[in-house]
Amino acid sequence: MQKLRNISIRRKLTLIIVIISTVSLLLASIAFITTDRINSRKSLGNNLRAMADIIAANSSAALIFGDTNAAEENLGFLGAQEHIEAAAIFELDGKEFVSYRKPGTNVTLPKPDFETDNILFRDDYVELFSNIVHENETIGVAYIRSDLLAVHERLVWFLGIVCIVLLTSLSITLMLSAQMQRIITDPLLRLSAIARQISLEKNYSLRVAGEGKDELGNLIVDFNKMLDEIQLRDNKLKNHRIRLEERVTQRTKELEESNNQLTQSKKQAEIVAKRMEYHAHHDDLTGLPNRTLLNDRINTELAHARRQKTMMALLFLDLDRFKVINDSLGHAIGDQLLRVISRRLRNCVREEDTVARLGGDEFMILLPRITSSSDAGRIGRKIIDALVEPVSCNGHELHITTSIGISIYPFDSTDTETLIKNADISMYRAKELGRNKVVYYTAEMNAGSRKQLALETNLRKALERGELDLHYQPKINTTHNTIVGVEALLRWNHPTMGAISPADFIPVAEDSGLIIPIGEWVLETAFKQLRKWHDAGHDALTMAVNLSSAQMSRSGIESAISKSLSNAGIDPCMAELEITENVAMQDIDSAVAALEKLKSTGISIAMDDFGTGYSSLGYLRRLPIDIVKIDQSFVRDIPDIKESILIAEAIIAMTQSLNLSLIVEGIENVRQLNYFKKQGCEVMQGFLFSRPVAAGEILKILNTRRAPGTFNVVK
Ligand code: C2E
Ligand code: MG
Ligand code: MG
Repeated sequence: MQKLRNISIRRKLTLIIVIISTVSLLLASIAFITTDRINSRKSLGNNLRAMADIIAANSSAALIFGDTNAAEENLGFLGAQEHIEAAAIFELDGKEFVSYRKPGTNVTLPKPDFETDNILFRDDYVELFSNIVHENETIGVAYIRSDLLAVHERLVWFLGIVCIVLLTSLSITLMLSAQMQRIITDPLLRLSAIARQISLEKNYSLRVAGEGKDELGNLIVDFNKMLDEIQLRDNKLKNHRIRLEERVTQRTKELEESNNQLTQSKKQAEIVAKRMEYHAHHDDLTGLPNRTLLNDRINTELAHARRQKTMMALLFLDLDRFKVINDSLGHAIGDQLLRVISRRLRNCVREEDTVARLGGDEFMILLPRITSSSDAGRIGRKIIDALVEPVSCNGHELHITTSIGISIYPFDSTDTETLIKNADISMYRAKELGRNKVVYYTAEMNAGSRKQLALETNLRKALERGELDLHYQPKINTTHNTIVGVEALLRWNHPTMGAISPADFIPVAEDSGLIIPIGEWVLETAFKQLRKWHDAGHDALTMAVNLSSAQMSRSGIESAISKSLSNAGIDPCMAELEITENVAMQDIDSAVAALEKLKSTGISIAMDDFGTGYSSLGYLRRLPIDIVKIDQSFVRDIPDIKESILIAEAIIAMTQSLNLSLIVEGIENVRQLNYFKKQGCEVMQGFLFSRPVAAGEILKILNTRRAPGTFNVVK
C-alpha cells in the first residue's frame, strides 16, 4: 500500500482503470460462462430425456414379449451418439433386460430406480431413468448415461474466448487510459511544476495555464487567485522592505553625520576646555603660570618641603617705574617689555622652579628644594643682573629694574598665604630702600603690606574726598551702528599717585570690605547718570555695572540694587549686572539664588570675561544669565591665530545653543570687527569704537551720532 502511494498519479490512474475494467470483464465472463454452462447442461439433460423417452416408448412391446433382439435394436441408434456412454432396459423386478455400452468403455450400470426420473448430474457424467409404461402400468425402466465432454469442451472454449477478450480489452484499456488519464494528470502536473518553481525561485508572477470548468479548472483558477494574492502581498512586502532599507540607510547616514558633528563638537569642546584650562592657569600676555597655578604649586611644594624637611623660597618681584613706561609709550610697548622680561626671568631659574605673573608688573618666583637661604638671594641678584641689559622695543632702548622681596620656608612662615604676604612686604621694603634691590623678609617688616595699607588708607578717604569717578564705555550695535548701552567703569584719581587702575585697587577694596560702600556709590552714580541721559532723550540706553564677589556674597545686595534703581527712577529692564565667572563660582548656590531674585525684577545678568575663569559649561547652564561677554584675550589674536578663532567660534556656538546674547569686548581693530560681524555677533565694545570716557563725552557722542549708520570709530 505504501508503495502504491509513492507511484505517480498517472500510474495510479492507469492501475485503477485496469483493475476496474479487468474486474468488470471477469465478472461479466463468469456470469456468461455460468449461464452458458447451465444452458448446455440443461440442453444435454433434455437431449438425454428425449432419447430415454424414445427408448422407453419403443421398448415396451419388446419388454412385454421378452424380445431382447428388438430391444437391442432399439438401443442400436445410440452407437451414433458419441456422448452416450451406456444405456439399459430393466425389467420390473430390476433385472437387466438389455444394455448398451459405448465401445471401449466398461461402465457399471446402476441399480434401476423406478422412483426418480430426474436427470442426475455426476462429476463427469449425467444419467437418467425413464419408466417404461404400458397402458398406464409401469413394466420396466430405461436407463441412459452420457459423458459431460461436450459441456466441458464448451467451457474450455469459452474460457479461451474470455482470455482473449480480457487481454484485448486490457491492452485497449491500457492504451486508452494512458491517453485519457492525461486529461486529469496534465493540469495536476502543471500545477505541481509551477508550485515547485515558485517555491524554488520565489517568483510569484508565475501562473498555471488551463482554466476548464471542472474541479481541476476550478483548482487552477483558485490556485492562480491565491498566487495573485501572494504576489500582491509580496510586492507590498518588497515595497515595505525597500522603504525600510531606504529609511535605515537614511538614518544611518544621519547618524553618521550627527556622529561626525558630535566628534567635531567634542574636539572643539576639548580644545575650548584645554584653552580654558590653560587660561585659568596662565597669564595671557606672557604665557607664564598665573596666581592660581602658582598657589597650587606653592601648596604642593610646601607639603613636600614639610615631609622632606627641605627649604623653599618665594621671590616677589615688582618692576620699578614700569607704569611710567606704560603710560608714556603705550600698552603695546609695555606688553612687549613684559614678554621680554618674562623670558629673562625664566632663563635665570631651574627647570623645576616656577616663574608666575601675578598681573601688571608683578611676578613671583617659587624656588623649591633650596639648600640654604642664600640660594634665593643668589637667584635674586642673578635676576637683577639679567635686567641690566636694556630691552629694545620699537626703536626704544628701555632700561628696567626690579625690586625683589624674599620669604623662606620654614623661617618666615609655614603657610602659603603668609609666605606670599611676607615676600610682598619685603619687596616693598626693597622699593623703600631705593629699588633694584633684593631684600630678605625680617620679622620687623610684619606690620603688613605697606602697599596694601597705603592703598587701603587712601581708598577709604577717596570716597569721602570725591576722588572716585565713573567712566563709561559704549556698547555698539554694529548692525545699526548705534549705541545700545554703556558700561560703568570705576576710576580713581589720586592727587599725588595719579590715576590708579581698577585692576590694582579693586582687589584692595574687596579685601578690606571697602568694595561695599564703593559698590553702592557706583550703583547710585551710574543709575542717576542713566536717568540724566534718559531725560535727555536717550531713553533706550542701558547701563551695565560690574559687581565684585564681595558684593555678591553680601546679603541684601538685591535690595541695594533695587534701591539705587528706584532712587534714580530707572526701570530694572534698563540695567545690566556684570559678574565674573569666579564671582559666581565662589558659592554657586547662593549666587544662583541671588541672581535669580535680581533677574526676576527684570535686570539682565551678564557673564563678564567669559573663558578666563574656572567655570565649566555646566556652571554656565545653572546660572540664570542672559548675556555672555567673550573675554578680550580671545579677541586679541583674531583673525590671525587659529586656536583663538576656534575658541571664539565654540563660545559663539555655545551661546547660540543656550539662547544667550553675546557681547564681544576688546574690539581694537576693523579686522576683529569684521570677523565677529561675519560670525553673526552684533553687540561689541572696545577701543575701536570708544575707550571708557567721562559722562559728558558720552552725551556728546550720543548727540552727534543719533542717526543710525553714522557711528564712527573713536580714538
Ligand atoms: P571689565 O568689566 O571686563 O571691563 C573691561 C575692561 O577692559 C576695562 O578696563 C576697559 O577699559 C578695558 N577695555 C575696554 N575695551 C578695550 C579694548 O578694546 N582693548 C583693551 N586692551 N582693553 C579694553 P578697566 O576700566 O581697567 O577695568 C578693569 C576691570 O576692573 C573691569 O573689567 C572690571 O572687572 C573691574 N571694574 C571696573 N569698574 C568696576 C566697578 O565699578 N566695580 C567692580 N566690582 N569692578 C570694576
Ligand atoms: Mg565688565
Ligand atoms: Mg570684561
